[in-house]
Order: sequence, then C-alpha cells, then structure tokens
Amino acid sequence: MTKTYYLWTIGCQMNSSDSQRVASELEKLGYHCAPNYREADVVVLNTCVVRQSAEDKATGFLWTLKPYKENRPDKVIALMGCMVGVKGHKLAKAFPHVDVFMPPSEPSPLIDYLLARQGEQESLAYRYQLQDEPSPIQEGNLSLVLPFHERNNLVAAHVPILYGCNHVCTYCIIPSRRGRERSRSVGEIVNEVRSLVTQGVREVTLLGQIVDRYGYDVPDGPRLPDVLRVLNDLEGLQRIRFLTSHPNYMTSELLEAVAELPKVCEHIEIPNQSGDDLILEQMKRDYNMENYCHLIERIRARLSELSIATDIIVGFPGETEAQFQRTLDYLAQLKLDVCHVAMYSPRSGTVSAKLWPDNVPAEEKKRRLNAVNQLQEQILIEINGRLLGRTMEILVEDKQRGRWQGRTRTNKLVFFEDDDNNWKGQLVNLEITWTGPWSLRGTLPGRKPLKVE
Ligand code: SAH
Repeated sequence: MTKTYYLWTIGCQMNSSDSQRVASELEKLGYHCAPNYREADVVVLNTCVVRQSAEDKATGFLWTLKPYKENRPDKVIALMGCMVGVKGHKLAKAFPHVDVFMPPSEPSPLIDYLLARQGEQESLAYRYQLQDEPSPIQEGNLSLVLPFHERNNLVAAHVPILYGCNHVCTYCIIPSRRGRERSRSVGEIVNEVRSLVTQGVREVTLLGQIVDRYGYDVPDGPRLPDVLRVLNDLEGLQRIRFLTSHPNYMTSELLEAVAELPKVCEHIEIPNQSGDDLILEQMKRDYNMENYCHLIERIRARLSELSIATDIIVGFPGETEAQFQRTLDYLAQLKLDVCHVAMYSPRSGTVSAKLWPDNVPAEEKKRRLNAVNQLQEQILIEINGRLLGRTMEILVEDKQRGRWQGRTRTNKLVFFEDDDNNWKGQLVNLEITWTGPWSLRGTLPGRKPLKVE
C-alpha cells in the first residue's frame, strides 16, 4: 500500500523552501502527498518561532496530533525548523509523541529515520521510483526534484543561497535557531536553478536572512551580484529576485547588477524596522534613519521603476507614542510599496527580552499595527493609481476561479481574464485597467477590461 506524508508549514519563505525539499526527499522514498494529517503515515511540522503566535500554532497542532499518534503508534511525527534549532533542543520531554526532530533546512534526520525503519532493502527499491506521471523526469540530472504536484506546475520557486545569520538584532531569535552564515556554492545554486527550469520554473527568488551578505563567510568568495550575473545567463529562466536585504550591505555593485541585468527584477525587500533612531540603536540595526532614507534615495536614483518593501516592528520595549509617530512620518514620506508590520513579541534568549520589559500593552500594539496598515493602504492607493493605463509585463503564475494571476517585475499582483489560451508560465504585456491597494487588473492588448464587481 502507498505510504503518505502531510506537511504543515508556517513562517518565512525559507521554511516553505525547506518543506519543498522534505517533500521531494519523501517522494524519492515512495511516499505520496496525503490530503490531510489524519490519515498520513508521516506528518511533518515545519515551525517558526519569530513571534509567540507562530510558536503557539505549532504547539497547538502538535497537541492535536497526540491522540492520532496514540491510536496509531506507527504514525511518524516529525518536528522541524526554528522550534528545533541547530544547537540541540529540550523538546523530547515536552512532546514525547514526536519521533524525529529536524533542524531548519535539514531533511536528513527524517529520511534516515524512515530508512532505518523500513529497512534498507525495501526503501532502496523505492528510492528512485518516482510517482506515475505523464513524462517521468530522471532524477540523475536534477539536483532538486520538485514534489509531484509542483513538477511542471510551479512557475516561481524559492532557492536558498545563504543559510543562517550572523547579525544580532536584539529582538530576533533567528540567528540562535538557524546558526552562523553558510553560503552555498555558485555551482550548487546554478545546478539547482537549472534543474528547476527543466521542471517548468520560470522565476526564482534567492533566499537568505540577510541575502546581500551572500559570500561574506567565504574569504574572497563570490558575492550576490556574481550569482545574479551567472543566473542571468541561464536559458529558460525569465526572472530573478532576492530577499531579504539589510540596508548596510546594499552595495553599489548590487544596485548596478539589478539595474543592468535584464532578468533581475526591480523589487527590493529592505526592512528598516523602526523610524526612530534610538529604537534602531536598541534594536542594534547598525544604521539610523538618515542612512536609511539616503539609501532609498540612492536606490531610486539608480532604478527608475522599482518597488521597495520594508518590515516594521511596533511596540518594541519602551516605544513611546512620539517614537511610533516618527515611524509613521517616515512611512508617509518614503511611500514604500510593501510594509510587513508585526507587533513586538519578546523571544526568550534574545537581548531585548533580557534587557527590557515588554511594556507596550497588547491593545496599544494592535492600535499601532492598524495605524501602519491604514497609512500603507492610502499610500498604495496613491502609488498603484499611477499605474493605471500603463502597459506592464506580467509573468503568469496560475489560473484561479477563472482568472489568470501573475506579477509585474515590481512584484505587484495582477489579474486578467482569458479563456482561449494557456498563459501559465508566460510573460505577457497587459494594459492596467484597474488599480487597488493590494492588486491590479489588466487586459490583453485589444480586449475589453475585466469587470469590477
Ligand atoms: N533576516 C530577516 C528576518 C526574518 S524575520 C529579515 O531581515 O527580514 C522577519 C521579520 O519578522 C523581521 O524583519 C521583523 O520585522 C519581524 N520580527 C523578527 N523578530 C521579531 C519579534 N521578536 N517580534 C516581532 N517581530 C519580529
């Protein structure tokens, strides 16, 4: 009988990418994707601990699984990601029903466990036998075999290029859970992207906690612009993105690469976290608002059409109303395209949790979060509104509920209608006929505009 797996994932793009790898490895062992966790033979929880809310969801799901494990002790439960971390953990006592613990980005503990359980003979027979499919892909020439449901179906993929983080932003738990920076080699990255292109992928987003520090851990090693240059030459690949950048490593060389390389998209994720210099110092971000604004100016001067995303934390310990107001003022002034806002969540073991009480009340954090979101909505109505009537290049990712959807080079979501052609994975020029804060609508040349309900 076919064995099945169920993957539960929460958190950042790196986690989604890690889960994709786990799925790929499980499918090589002969496992199929299960529709839900109840029947699955193997359940993997890929966890995030950046905020308490994410950790609570993982813990809640772990307890949901307990009775299923009791009813069927052969069901395998694996816990992966930042809840486990790279330094060893003390979770086995708290969660005795978990069979395997896997650090972030490491599928091997689970695979080794299953191999040992199945017995080498049986599993080796499974190993290279992929599921039935119209055009089986030989694993031999692929460095990453996409899970079955994504093969020749996924248009935009994430590719980790730098694991871990060497910074110590005082609020952030990631460095202690994902370990020191480790850059993958250019050869490994190129092989992986090439194999993804063979499987239908047209766009890759290169991932790192501070992706613009790629290669800094290797003396005289290649840097992010070098990776972008090599990938830009890869036939079949249409677009390249990267995230997340730290303001201090956004070099002129990197900006030049974005400006010059046709496949590298004009979208930069560059969190500033707060608009107040004292808070930035307490966060140990190593820049102030003058530096950040100057950087945004430099980026905008070099790239005429681009979008910029930021992250903001509200309710950092001791954040006063005046300090929060400075964040709002800067956001209003800079008019960025995306603002991911989060309420400060003290993480045990971080410097900020040790030094300062979490003294901004939850209600106040929520009010500040809403204020940022409302301001951002207004900003987006204005800046997206300027795109009305423009012709923009969209990479089409999918068709859902009768509508094609894709993204501009600047990462704006665009919908359009067409029942006559299959646009998936294609670059298409659309006239923008409607704009809203969170999405745009467009039409193919010579077609009627999409109806707005
Ligand atoms: N290195 C990545 C960090 C990923 S965490 C980056 O620079 O984006 C993603 C975001 O979560 C951070 O940018 C920050 O805004 C937020 N975050 C991190 N720790 C947090 C905490 N303790 N409380 C609230 N938000 C936090």
